[in-house]
Amino acid sequence: MEAFDQLLAQAPARIDLAGDLDALATLEAELVGKKSLIAETRRGLGRLPAEERPVVGARVHEVLRSLQELLDHRRSVLERVAEDRLLEQDRVDVSLGGYEPSIGMHHILTQTVDEVVDIFTGLGYRVASGPEVELAWYNFDALNTPPTHPSRLESDTLYVEYGDPSDEMLLRTHTSPMQARYMEQNDPPVYVVVPGRTFRADALDPTHSPVFYQIEGLAVDENITFGDLKGTLAHFAREFFGSERKIRLMPHFFPFTEPSAEMHMSCYACDGSGCRVCSGSGWIELIGCGMVDPNVLDAVGYDSSKLSGFAFGMGAERMAMVRHGINHIKHFYENDIRVLRQFT
Ligand SMILES: [Zn+2]
Repeated sequence: MEAFDQLLAQAPARIDLAGDLDALATLEAELVGKKSLIAETRRGLGRLPAEERPVVGARVHEVLRSLQELLDHRRSVLERVAEDRLLEQDRVDVSLGGYEPSIGMHHILTQTVDEVVDIFTGLGYRVASGPEVELAWYNFDALNTPPTHPSRLESDTLYVEYGDPSDEMLLRTHTSPMQARYMEQNDPPVYVVVPGRTFRADALDPTHSPVFYQIEGLAVDENITFGDLKGTLAHFAREFFGSERKIRLMPHFFPFTEPSAEMHMSCYACDGSGCRVCSGSGWIELIGCGMVDPNVLDAVGYDSSKLSGFAFGMGAERMAMVRHGINHIKHFYENDIRVLRQFT
């Protein structure tokens, strides 16, 4: 009983001295654990004379409860301290200046392609894409370009397989192969634009690159006329370059259109009076186009006696260069951030 009195007298001070939860757990094991005086006394109760057992038992219970209360109280204090410390460590100072995230943007070529495509989807055109590695059949033969045509030479076209014209494969030289592919897979009427990368055996100079982006357009329906082609391209020029733009169609030649034309647009910089942008002519060459050659319609199984159509192809780089006054095609591929940032 004296030992219990002593234990109880010292306990509050010892428990208060426990500086953290680990120290408190150690002290708790010593005071009320399996090897504590309390546990030992409990185990020895049976050996005591019968009349002493209830007295000692009650005292043990009382001491245990007092110690447990002191321990629990101290634990809740220490837990709160630990929590406060954690909160202090994790504190965020919302008044600190942050880092501005750098937000990406579309490349000027992507912006140009998207904008051109949007103008035509606004007229009801669909959008299609095709393979960059193409069969010579789709790139040339189906487009009325015979095996003897000079554009099929290795000096102009980048071949993957070269030799036997029936299984030649190449990097497509224009997006026009999709004219044949699309008509093979879709019944008329056809109104489609095809944006994509094209490849030619050209050296890099201010206006040529071995890789460039083209946007192809094809309309095939009953009673389509040259007037429809002109109206469509005039609409495009005014949407893309401004409502004041005029166009003219000059005779040209492409194997897969008849008649063929080159669309010229009145210079946006001088409004036709002649300046450096238009080399003094007042006009800017912009788009190759023409009426779809009946041979192309026949090659895909369309009835050229009932259907007619027009096609056009434009370079995305050319559109962006003319519109923004960019003087070298290399600026699109070098990806100098100082250049790209001007087109956010
Ligand atoms: Zn001009």
